[in-house]
Amino acid sequence: MQLKHIAFLTLSAVSTFAMAEGFDVVVVGSGGAGLSSAITAKESGATVVVLEKMAYIGGNSNFASGGMNAAGTKQQLAAGVTQDSPELFYKDTMKGGHNLNNPALLKTLTENAKYAEEWLVDLGAKFCFRKGRGGGQSIARGHGPCDGSAVGPEILRVLTERAAKDGIAIRTENQVVKIVMKNGAVAGVEVKTEDGVKTIDARAVVLATGGFGANQAMVTKYRPELKGFSTTNHPGALGEGIKLGEDVGASLTDIEQIQIHPSVIKRDGHLISESMRARGAIMVNQKGERFCNELLTRDVVSQHVLKQPGGYAYLIYDQSIFDSNKLSRGYYKDGYSVKAENLDELAQKIKVPAKTLKATFAAYKKAYDTQKDTAFGRPEMVIALDKAPYYAAQITPGIHHTMGGLTINTKAEVQSKAGKSIPGLFAAGEVTGGVHGGNRIGGNAVADIVTFGRIAGKDAAAYAKAH
Ligand code: ADP
Repeated sequence: MQLKHIAFLTLSAVSTFAMAEGFDVVVVGSGGAGLSSAITAKESGATVVVLEKMAYIGGNSNFASGGMNAAGTKQQLAAGVTQDSPELFYKDTMKGGHNLNNPALLKTLTENAKYAEEWLVDLGAKFCFRKGRGGGQSIARGHGPCDGSAVGPEILRVLTERAAKDGIAIRTENQVVKIVMKNGAVAGVEVKTEDGVKTIDARAVVLATGGFGANQAMVTKYRPELKGFSTTNHPGALGEGIKLGEDVGASLTDIEQIQIHPSVIKRDGHLISESMRARGAIMVNQKGERFCNELLTRDVVSQHVLKQPGGYAYLIYDQSIFDSNKLSRGYYKDGYSVKAENLDELAQKIKVPAKTLKATFAAYKKAYDTQKDTAFGRPEMVIALDKAPYYAAQITPGIHHTMGGLTINTKAEVQSKAGKSIPGLFAAGEVTGGVHGGNRIGGNAVADIVTFGRIAGKDAAAYAKAH
């Protein structure tokens, strides 16, 4: 009892005695990583505020359209998928990331994603298991809203509801421009608001500022060949957290590892979710021919698409996929896909030779019937793709995820160039590097932001308590 009382006094000290406003933990960024972190820090007894530079909350997490990967969840087991394990999850992710992933971080992710998923479900997320594996997965392990809608809005719904219940303030149009250090440790942040720049004291700061996929200059600095690519990122994904960390001596990991996603609408960078392929969609080129196993990893599929005439392809799916994936309705309503009553009409609409397109579909049906894709080795065909009407979206690769960023350890502590934890500085989510290596597997971003967001929140609160 007495001990608890002392801890409470310590935690409140910043706001009681300092001139500036103060919190135990300041979380920078209101995406999935920031909100998971803020809620967990609060649950751990810390006072918390979330600072968000944009006028809206959620960052790129708003657009997480696929699912959340986790091995060994109740939903996965109930669906009869019993052969998955953290070890297999690790193996798939390491292979998909070209063995560049930090082993300790990846182990933390693959062992804890299941608990992150359970936590979201406890917070009220209506999650079901998603049949159909994504690119680079040897087994299906996706989870998402039971109605087939996108995962991002659902996690933001439960996280914001919980944050409100916990009384956590999320201040929009609050841009953190500097991390304040005192005697080698984090002491607060400088934040720019419409009233000017002010200082907020903090015992610990969690950087959850996302990636830099919308920062053309930064993308081309590390990867000049990506000049001119469209981006799926929200306009606030500018890599500010990376700069904030670097300014206080943080080291960077894999910063040049930038993922291009194969299915992006050229004109505005709108993402067509990988879950469409997981549910059975195929891709054809201008000649009406398939050209690769659609379940290869994003980087490899992107390279295949870029090699096709014109550097684009058509993602084609039938009514059964349309019905099973709510995202399809949006693609159609918003004019990203065309609809046709049969393959002849589709061929005419997308201007590919009808004869070849029909032959492609006949060959695919045969592969489905025998469950053997002799042409391209697609490992899973969940749908015969023969239920008219048909839909097609013209897609091309676009900048999607920045795998590199601030170096962290398994406690989400930001590491200095000398390999030491910077006292009081934590980071989680896309702002960090090392979890995904050279290529992120679809469905692993949500697993990452919630898993490491919770770790950062818990450890930042513990640090605040101890300092
Ligand atoms: P993650 O998936 O890692 O949670 P998101 O992109 O979903 O990343 O969220 C990151 C959030 O951080 C975005 O809402 C973005 O606007 C916000 N952000 C980025 N830089 C700053 C900054 N300097 N100050 C405050 N918020 C920031």
